[in-house]
Amino acid sequence: MARDPKYDVLFEPIQIGPKTMRNRFYQTPHCNGAGSILPGTQAAFRGLKAEGGWAVVCTEQCAIDDENELTPNTLATLTDEGDMINLRHMCDEVHKWDSLAGVEFNHMGIAANNLATRSASPSPSTSSSDWMMGATSHAMDEDDILRYQNAYVEASKRAVQTGFDVIYLMGAAGFLPEQFLSKFYNKRTDKYGGSFENRARFWIETLAKMKAAVGDDAAIATRMSTTHYLGADGIQPEEDALKFVELATAEGLVDVWDVITSIFYEWGEHAGPSRFQKSNHEAPFTKFVKGIANVPVVNIGRFTSPDDMAEIIRSGQCDIIGTARPSIADPFLPRKIEEGRTEDIRECIGCNVCISRWERGAPLICTQNAVANEEYRRGWHPEKFEPAPDPYGVLVVGAGPAGMECARVLGERGYDVHLCEAEKDMGGHMLDVMRYPGLSEYGRVISYRQTQLDKLKNVEVHTGTGEMSAEDVLKYGAEKIVVSTGSHWNSDGDSYLTMAPLPGVIAGDARFLTPEQVMAGKEVGERVVVLDADGYFTGIGMAELLVNQGKQVSIVTQHGDVAPMTHYTLEFANLQRMMHEKGITQHTYHWVEEVDVGNVLKVKIFNVFRDGYERATESKHNELPRRRGTEFTELECDTVVLATGRSPNDKLYHDLSARKSEWANQGIEGIYQAGDCYAPRFTADVVFDGHRIARELDSAHPQRQVPYIRERMIWGMDPQPKFE
Ligand code: SF4
Repeated sequence: MARDPKYDVLFEPIQIGPKTMRNRFYQTPHCNGAGSILPGTQAAFRGLKAEGGWAVVCTEQCAIDDENELTPNTLATLTDEGDMINLRHMCDEVHKWDSLAGVEFNHMGIAANNLATRSASPSPSTSSSDWMMGATSHAMDEDDILRYQNAYVEASKRAVQTGFDVIYLMGAAGFLPEQFLSKFYNKRTDKYGGSFENRARFWIETLAKMKAAVGDDAAIATRMSTTHYLGADGIQPEEDALKFVELATAEGLVDVWDVITSIFYEWGEHAGPSRFQKSNHEAPFTKFVKGIANVPVVNIGRFTSPDDMAEIIRSGQCDIIGTARPSIADPFLPRKIEEGRTEDIRECIGCNVCISRWERGAPLICTQNAVANEEYRRGWHPEKFEPAPDPYGVLVVGAGPAGMECARVLGERGYDVHLCEAEKDMGGHMLDVMRYPGLSEYGRVISYRQTQLDKLKNVEVHTGTGEMSAEDVLKYGAEKIVVSTGSHWNSDGDSYLTMAPLPGVIAGDARFLTPEQVMAGKEVGERVVVLDADGYFTGIGMAELLVNQGKQVSIVTQHGDVAPMTHYTLEFANLQRMMHEKGITQHTYHWVEEVDVGNVLKVKIFNVFRDGYERATESKHNELPRRRGTEFTELECDTVVLATGRSPNDKLYHDLSARKSEWANQGIEGIYQAGDCYAPRFTADVVFDGHRIARELDSAHPQRQVPYIRERMIWGMDPQPKFE
């Protein structure tokens, strides 16, 4: 199909300095955990986006010198010939598709931790870092300023030689150029501090030097935050950003503006989780730039709707659609618009699980796109599937996220697939999760897969089948079976903290409810205690849902924070603000000794560090080798919600395993488990599980992963030729 003419505006070429973008889709810089040390992963991940239609594809932040780093998080570097060789591979893969490659040169200044290099990071004024505990910056003198400006220039020259078409000076999020611009960080009294012109000088001079160095070989981009959302304590639109755009425009230093908001330690205000920020949430703070700049402007805002994108350009908000997360969730988003297949777009759900993995020092993953970062090491392509060598029948039991993904990929491969779901609707636990406060976009996990399954003629979907027995499955007539029956929250309070039921909790008693029971509409009393051993969205989701209903809610967790996982998904700060504002009482570093069940429930909680700090000097069998604490606090309530632990729904699989001797007679070659029924995990990991088993169904042991390429340095080879 041809594209709808209403989207033509998205496909008009546009000039950025000396380069031409073939359309208006721009993958703005974002981390993937590959940097310059995993060149195969980097090139395949970025090259795929060029194939998918992004006219500009950028690296993540890229260091200009060897001292500025963020261990254990991986960033790119372009400081020697080895880096050039590795990133040239990315440029080549991007150029294959007539797209432009961009590199984002960055110095974090006070925000760097330099855990590996052990250098004191340079910044306008000496201070302890307000992000990286234990790091203190060194105030740059004018020699330092010249040295770092020269580092940007030399890196820019290397970028041109490497093949980059767009070269960034990253100023945004409060990194080094904005530290100079900010009155909060910059306390200098020389020509780089004080007045606006002085505070802007470092950034302006550096841009001028970079532009002179690259000439017409590359476009110069700069990324700026128009606000830090800190009022007078940070960058503000009128005071700083607007005047800076005017100044740089007057001097003709920037070929393309990439405009965002926020500061490094609260970058969730920029990479906004869907729980708090909807698409295009930054527009009120960024849209003035287009009216001042006389060159193209990129805006971002987790854009997934082609209608929104076209309207944003037509309205004059910006010229170019920048995306990071939507391009991870669907690297082929532009192509799908161009080919008139907008219903095939796999929309980002705004969960920030991609970011969470990188924040934990691991490579990026994606809830919606199981192929993300698997392009090179497993050779996967999100739109291409190896045809089934023998398209036999496969029964998938359970249509939650893992089962739906497994059936989708099996269908794409050409198997004769039957997907059976006990309930009347597909979606499994996600049907509940999408009704938690703020999480409605998580429903895209279901809707994308439902649309794709509807299109696959070789996939039969049967809903409302009721629970299938082993007998049903054995007699079904499929050659292979994938069991994806999900998991359930424990109704007895069992979790990894106790590895046993919680004393006093009565499974089945109407006063003790699992999250599923709450979502099923079971009656909840006025005073509620949520027990959260999980630490992600369920406990906090229950607490917010119930406080919104007017209940008096306390949340108890053994963690030092409620929902600590949300530190990594960038939801933490606003969840704290939400709990404070809505009056949810937090009991952190506490767990449950027992629950007294009388006319009212009394939950006895104890501080997890109540035992003595001095350890005994001799071992006594069965005795704790420290003073045993006995203090506890009593919480009276009417209902206890148990977000303690999940158990797999694996009865069907074990029933089938017990009848393994019958499999051959029934023509069954293998039975496997995918998703939570194998082990309850994050949605991204169970979707991956279903996807992987479908890709590897004809391997020797589909339950286990086929070996993949482990990209690494190999001793005796020289992976880092020195730059002369
Ligand atoms: Fe979007 Fe979540 Fe995928 Fe990140 S992990 S790209 S937020 S769907």
